[in-house]
Amino acid sequence: MISIRQVSKSYGSFQVLSDCSTEIKKGEVIVVCGPSGSGKSTLIKCVNGLEPFQSGEIIVDGISVGDPRTKLSTLRARVGMVFQHFELFPHMTIVDNLTLAQVKVLGRSRDEAAEKGLKLLERVGLKAHANKHPGALSGGQQQRVAIARALSMDPIAMLFDEPTSALDPEMINEVLDVMVELANEGMTMMCVTHEMGFARKVAHRVIFMDQGRIVEDAPKDDFFGQPRSERAQQFLSKIL
Ligand code: ADP
Ligand code: MG
Repeated sequence: MISIRQVSKSYGSFQVLSDCSTEIKKGEVIVVCGPSGSGKSTLIKCVNGLEPFQSGEIIVDGISVGDPRTKLSTLRARVGMVFQHFELFPHMTIVDNLTLAQVKVLGRSRDEAAEKGLKLLERVGLKAHANKHPGALSGGQQQRVAIARALSMDPIAMLFDEPTSALDPEMINEVLDVMVELANEGMTMMCVTHEMGFARKVAHRVIFMDQGRIVEDAPKDDFFGQPRSERAQQFLSKIL
């Protein structure tokens, strides 16, 4: 589903990604972790074309992300992304937040989009909040809306960039629960997160990054059992 082949990227003379390669199969859940500044956000932004890269290749469902002929809007419509900050439109109601892109990008009718939006709100437990504005919701609720909004586009894969790290502790689990459910339903997911409980529960593989490199790419049990690299061992011992 997602193939990352020898991707490198620099900002001027600073190399942010060095020769990163991995393959993510349909239905696989990958957790990406590593110290701050190791290139995790940059790597997942490359996957849906939010960041250009200078060398290597990324193929998502047969679409070459780096190919200048690829329409990035088409790709982004197919790959859902959820960020640390929810980025809902503050002046629109929750249900309008969920319908906008369906109507504008997918050409769905307003009614069809609203019906789909409400169904997804129900799924994340927020149907009763459909007509409120984002500001009236807690951070955890807003992040669940952001996930529902991404799902409204019928994505073939979902990318998460530290979706719980800006939340108060008591709200983290309500967001992780939605992600666990998605994973159990077979969604292909690439999740940057330091929530190792989540990783243990649903990840198939864990990727550990350090200084722009994929240092470790291992099945979950191998990773938690004994990471091969000293860097990953140190990292794990600090966060567990
Ligand atoms: P992570 O998500 O693992 O914390 P990032 O991918 O955000 O790491 O960033 C990796 C490195 O690239 C950091 O050192 C960061 O300062 C640098 N960086 C990120 N964006 C830019 C940019 N637009 N210009 C220059 N350096 C950047
Ligand atoms: Mg980051």
